[in-house]
Amino acid sequence: MGFLDKIKEYRRMLSQVERNIYGEKQDYLEIYERNLQLEKEIEARTTELNVANKRMLTLQHIWDMMNSSTPLENVLEKVVSSIHGELGYLHCAIIRKLHDEKGDYMQIATQSKDSAIARVNKIIGIPIEARRLTYDPDGIYADTMKNRKIVQTKDLGGTLKYVMPDLPDNVALAAVTNQPCKSLIIIPLCPMNTEFGWFCVFTSRDELAESETDFLSLFAQQIEMSITITDLFLAVKEQAVTDSLTGLYNRRHFEETLKREVTRAQRQNQPFSIIGIDLDYLKKINDKYGHAYGDLAIKTVAEVLKSNARSIDIPARMGGEEFNVLLPGIESSGAMKAAERIRKAIADKELDVIGHVTASVGVATFLEHSDNIEELLELTDQAMYQSKRNGRNQVTLAKPISETSWQEIAVNTFLEILSKHNIPIPQDISKDLQTKLKDAEDKKEMSKETLFNVADILTATYNPMHTKGIMKSKVFMATSLAKRFDLPKDEIDNLRIAMLLYDIGNLMLPPELLQKTTPLTEEEKQHIKEHPIIAAQEILKPISYIQDVIPIIEHHHENWDGTGYPQKLSHNDIPLTSQIILIIDAYFALIEHRPYRAKMTPQEALEVIKKDAGKKWNEALVQEFVTLTELDLV
Ligand code: GH3
Ligand code: MG
Repeated sequence: MGFLDKIKEYRRMLSQVERNIYGEKQDYLEIYERNLQLEKEIEARTTELNVANKRMLTLQHIWDMMNSSTPLENVLEKVVSSIHGELGYLHCAIIRKLHDEKGDYMQIATQSKDSAIARVNKIIGIPIEARRLTYDPDGIYADTMKNRKIVQTKDLGGTLKYVMPDLPDNVALAAVTNQPCKSLIIIPLCPMNTEFGWFCVFTSRDELAESETDFLSLFAQQIEMSITITDLFLAVKEQAVTDSLTGLYNRRHFEETLKREVTRAQRQNQPFSIIGIDLDYLKKINDKYGHAYGDLAIKTVAEVLKSNARSIDIPARMGGEEFNVLLPGIESSGAMKAAERIRKAIADKELDVIGHVTASVGVATFLEHSDNIEELLELTDQAMYQSKRNGRNQVTLAKPISETSWQEIAVNTFLEILSKHNIPIPQDISKDLQTKLKDAEDKKEMSKETLFNVADILTATYNPMHTKGIMKSKVFMATSLAKRFDLPKDEIDNLRIAMLLYDIGNLMLPPELLQKTTPLTEEEKQHIKEHPIIAAQEILKPISYIQDVIPIIEHHHENWDGTGYPQKLSHNDIPLTSQIILIIDAYFALIEHRPYRAKMTPQEALEVIKKDAGKKWNEALVQEFVTLTELDLV
């Protein structure tokens, strides 16, 4: 090969190499571009995956809730807050379609708490959740319901007017302008083919992707399923007659059986008895060994009750650590024997780790103690508490109400308050008072003096200016006044008890407020006014046998002319017993020293009282009161 040929050959090879290089460059470019494309796709997929993942989690969340026996409102609330919080919608709500005598209407069942709704509520005045919304049978909501179809609308003002036609146009306009919500999606909720309501979401986007519509309908299906399941749970729960921890009958079944038993007992003229059982010191067991061992103690009592029951007895767990057994056909002596057997069997059992537990027991018999179910249950309870007070691990037979004097009721009430309630009284005073009361109880001499003394000491703990001995005068005066108005004996008894207890709520007021020497602020005045009544109701409510006393106390600050509190009752709507307490309380307050004023003489106090006749108090009452006090003064 000649030199030129070689050159040609090289050139050919060179251009070949060039071509190759160019080709590879092309390839690389293509690969590079393909990679870029792929990365973009991966990124998009990842975002989609993340969204899908979040949706899955939200659904999982709901599914978990549906499997618990949470009430429907809570389930719906969770649904709304999770879709709002996790998926970034501006606002979500579940609206109910409801019906009453005025026809169909709509109401917010639950909605997310967010700035979007806060803003709208501020503009429309009455918050949307508090409104009865109009159901327009030709409106958009009715439409979605009829066609079972998701609708998206950008006409936010129009939809607002559908449900609130009375809203002025300018207000509706203000509510939808200058805010980030652009469209509303309405999804009908029709669990088991019923017209339950709608699921609504507000977004900042104009258009919905198809996948989002799919997801929202899937979500709505989940809501429908949770509604169905919650309804089912409820139905099943209502049908249940046994308690899940112990297998004993539950409260509902006990009460139903009790009602039937009363009818039977009356028809066949046969007695029946109730045994009430309460575990002793369960709180201590829980605290010391843990809740599981507390449960073990409860189950042990249940076992004892089951093994001691005849086939016709109804042993039931009334709730917590409280049990009742209904004994058809059994009079009190038989019931006492059964109760004692139960008590002993419980005390004899040796439990794992905790050793022995005991229970306090009360017994009451139909007709023998009362012919009224509520009263009979109250008496059982009272007898059981008597067992507690006497040292627990014992049985007490109820006492017929008619034989219980007002002093006994008052002593029991004070004991119950001092032993059961967390009221802020120094421990030593509380112990001392309890000893005094128990002594009076044990000696069977329900000495009134003890009662007055206890009430005086108790009052002095929140009012150091309280004059010792005044309780006695107050009760004495209340009794005399009531007799002048011919009140029946049981009302007078309730008045006496109310007189001892009407200020008990003051125990719950901060002492610095009661002792303040400078004028009170409006807020403090309001607090001093309302709080004691609320506190008294709360302290006394759990005490079953003084329920007739509570309303007397509740109204002892109502004025004759309707300017009092808490209910602004006037004239004869105010119980006379409450009126009596008001006038006596006022009189004794005036003649007592107060941090903000000197005490008055009785004559001065009477003058003040007379001035308010017809305003604060009834004139007839003032007249009797004045006569009575003047009699006392001469
Ligand atoms: P007392 O002798 O005066 O009855 O004292 P007590 O501690 O048993 O009674 P109290 O009424 O002060 O407290 C009852 C306690 O029972 C409080 C509550 O935590 C507990 N308890 C209620 N139900 C259950 C339950 O199902 N399991 C467990 N472990 N404890 C329960
Ligand atoms: Mg207990």
